[in-house]
Amino acid sequence: MSVRVRYAPSPTGLQHIGSVRTALFNYLFAKSQNGTFIVRLEDTDRTRFREEYVQNLYDTFAWLGFYWDEGPDVGGPAGPYVQSERLALYQQYAHELVKKGAAYYCFCKDKRTQGNDGEETENEGGFGYPRTCRNLDPEEAKRRVDAGEPYVIRLKIPLEGTTVFEDLLLGTIEWKNVDINPDPVLLKSDGFPTYHLANVIDDHSMQITHIMRAQEWISSTPLHIIMYKAFGWEVPKLCHLPMVLGQDGHKLSKRHGATAVNEFKKKGYLPEALVNYVALLGCSYKDGQDIYSLDELIANFSIKHLNKAPAVFDYVKLEWFNGQYIRMKSDEELARLILPFMCDAGLLNDDNHGIEFMRKAVPLIKERLKYLSDAPLMLGFVFKDFDVPPQEELIPKKLDKTATARVLFEAKALLIKHGVSDHAVIEQAFRTKAEELGYKLGDMLMPLRMAVTGTKVSPPLFESIALVGIEKACARIDAAVQVLQK
Ligand code: GLU
Repeated sequence: MSVRVRYAPSPTGLQHIGSVRTALFNYLFAKSQNGTFIVRLEDTDRTRFREEYVQNLYDTFAWLGFYWDEGPDVGGPAGPYVQSERLALYQQYAHELVKKGAAYYCFCKDKRTQGNDGEETENEGGFGYPRTCRNLDPEEAKRRVDAGEPYVIRLKIPLEGTTVFEDLLLGTIEWKNVDINPDPVLLKSDGFPTYHLANVIDDHSMQITHIMRAQEWISSTPLHIIMYKAFGWEVPKLCHLPMVLGQDGHKLSKRHGATAVNEFKKKGYLPEALVNYVALLGCSYKDGQDIYSLDELIANFSIKHLNKAPAVFDYVKLEWFNGQYIRMKSDEELARLILPFMCDAGLLNDDNHGIEFMRKAVPLIKERLKYLSDAPLMLGFVFKDFDVPPQEELIPKKLDKTATARVLFEAKALLIKHGVSDHAVIEQAFRTKAEELGYKLGDMLMPLRMAVTGTKVSPPLFESIALVGIEKACARIDAAVQVLQK
């Protein structure tokens, strides 16, 4: 049977880097097996549902560059792929479980006897329901349902014995049934299924062969196994993926840094870098290789290479990957990728002039960029007039105020005479002049750099002056000289 896997997000938040890792492993596994990758929207939690999270799902994966074969937006033979559009199916199966004696109607109204009902039960379960309605006479219960009394349907957790499953990564996992949340709700009184019911029915009816999901779902798995057994369905193969932790050993969260993919995008991470880095979180490939294209990741992916131990998310390592991918881009590609960041910073417009400018600027900053959003910071001096640096920042250690003013005066003259289009010429002119004045070349260039760019660490000096333009550069030199004359 051909492999079918799914990513089943609940649209109750922005796409998180940890969930993207789950999706990516499913995708890589599917593609490595010539299988099918499916997305299913688990939108049964209506109180936390927001349409913008659905849009965020689509946008995130379109940006990341790997997409599903079947899903709500692209369709497919097992649709609909949105749980709120499948309510009749869940209701039908829930009643079937009651008929089989594996579930029962519950009419308890107050929270105390209902236990953790409704939304809380969806993901967590929790002890509390004292099985009040479990022993109602089934005929009597059916009569009450038919008479229109509100009810939920609960799963009968066996009172003894064990529930066992094989995890492809973690091996045999066994639960004593008495340790399982007593009788979780499967169908809520509003006719909506809980996570457990909808998840099992969909995995079965969408012919999912392998469930690869985060380890936080392990405690739900025995409930699901009990349902599969009650229906007489084959349980898909299970693989609970290693956790993703922050450096402090706690589950990766906002405290550690960016977690929403959106934030990484805004900061100027490249999707290729993010995908490559995330693919390594909890999975080992060839020794000594870090950089993998998506095709190489597919070719190398195997469940055998997954690690049992949790993966630690290292923001510094990710930054390194980003730098590598930035430098793999052509200048033209980078110019186009950076332009929106320049526009957002209000420095350029998305027009011909904007892209022309970026074509000239990219070679100057490419080597030092960590993220695309560094570009407006590195190039801001070209556009924005900054406060003229104070004397102490303009004067090199070996020179005094008067000498620095003289150096700037001479520099200006050289710029006007030679321009900056021929680097060899202007550099030689500066060397000759420095020798003539008896200064080191560096002591001539440092005040010039401070005066024109306002910082000691600008991109290469003459190229920077070319971007600023000779006229503006000269005005900035004059302003610096005035500061020195005070
Ligand atoms: N809707 C669940 C989630 O948000 C799916 C869990 C699963 O994959 O079974 O992660």
